[in-house]
Amino acid sequence: ADDILIIGAGQAAAQAVQSLRAEGFDGAIRIFGDEPYAPYQRPPLSKKFLSGEIGFDRVELKAQDFYAGAGVETHWGTRVTEIDRREKRILTGDGRSFDYGKLLIATGSRVRELNVPGFDLDGVHYLRNIDDVKSIQAHFKPGAKMVVVGGGYIGLEVAAVAVKRGLDVTVLETADRVMARVVDPIVSRFYERVHREEGVKIETGVTVASFEGEDKVTSVASGEGRRFPCDFVVVGIGIIPNTELAAEAGLTVENGIAVDEHCRTSDPDICAAGDCTSHPNGVYGHRLRLESVHNAIEQGKTAAATLTGKEKPYNQVPWFWSDQYDLKLQIVGLSAGYTEAVVRGDPETGRSFAVFYLKDGVLVAVDAINRAPEFMMSKMLTANQARLDPARIRDEGVGVKELAG
Ligand code: FAD
Repeated sequence: ADDILIIGAGQAAAQAVQSLRAEGFDGAIRIFGDEPYAPYQRPPLSKKFLSGEIGFDRVELKAQDFYAGAGVETHWGTRVTEIDRREKRILTGDGRSFDYGKLLIATGSRVRELNVPGFDLDGVHYLRNIDDVKSIQAHFKPGAKMVVVGGGYIGLEVAAVAVKRGLDVTVLETADRVMARVVDPIVSRFYERVHREEGVKIETGVTVASFEGEDKVTSVASGEGRRFPCDFVVVGIGIIPNTELAAEAGLTVENGIAVDEHCRTSDPDICAAGDCTSHPNGVYGHRLRLESVHNAIEQGKTAAATLTGKEKPYNQVPWFWSDQYDLKLQIVGLSAGYTEAVVRGDPETGRSFAVFYLKDGVLVAVDAINRAPEFMMSKMLTANQARLDPARIRDEGVGVKELAG
């Protein structure tokens, strides 16, 4: 049959379901997700859902009745354990098997764990799913001491929410500055300043050596001999793509399930989309593995087109965002390898500026902090690999729209 099966029920999968029907596919669609919930958005888990400002109904990607309405067979709480490519079927953890005509793998990623002594103590948390949020929220009492391990987006977003809830928050970061992997020191210093002003303690150059306590964590010890007392810990040190199912089925994996610009894997009947993939990116000229909503949505659309025999190649400039306090950080492109960072606005005193990353004069990325116009414009400029004049970027008398000229 031409049944389409989808493994994983997150952002990419939900998009693919919607796009498959929009593309006119009227065959059977079966979706399998190992979480007990219908697909939901993860970004709010470290933002407004964590703070309690919004509830689950606002986090769900589709209304409850969407899947039934679209004639989709849902298998929530069902883990897929094997892909049998010869027989063209999948096996589930509860011992069932389902045949497929075409398959979409959208298994996402999982948190990287910090395997130091004490890793299994109560009170050591990670943040990837709804249940993680519930465990973390249980500690949200004014005055509670929270240590965040990792000064990346997720760690800093959690810190921002927690300090506003009256917690005593310390962020430990191994590098000499926060968000070191993705932004220029100018942006790191800005965020460190704002967090400190808001009451968060930021400790850089700290490598966690162990979690200490009897059965529950009571302090975090660093390799540098420091000790940070705590009531609980949230670790945010990155993710690992879920590629095992694909690898065991013999599909090519290269830092993510290798797909082409049509989201096709090394098996023409199998597509993959989202965090679990790596794709060839024409803008940067090499393979990328991205961890973003934009990538999951666009690959979900592309995969749906491919699965229905159409073409919608995916070749876009990545973008990403992070919300901390009143700051909306929007990142366009990848700054790796930049030769010059040009600042527009004043990061020393204000709360609104943008950093333009040039590589030999060509725009490769922009970090926009509370600067929607710069963000919108830079999407186009980066895609066009525009050559920009640093003096004009700095000059706020030159309008955003005139930067290209
Ligand atoms: P996921 O949404 O992770 O979905 C994959 C699903 O597949 C999961 O439910 C998983 O349990 C399931 N699964 C895996 N293996 C199996 C199996 N064998 N059988 C059945 N089911 C399986 N991105 C942004 O762009 N902006 C942000 O501000 C932002 N904030 C974030 C904050 C947090 C706390 C987190 C965790 C992520 C954030 N992201 C953000 C990243 C973004 O959420 C992900 O890039 C996106 O969810 C990827 O979608 P996906 O469909 O590939 O994977």
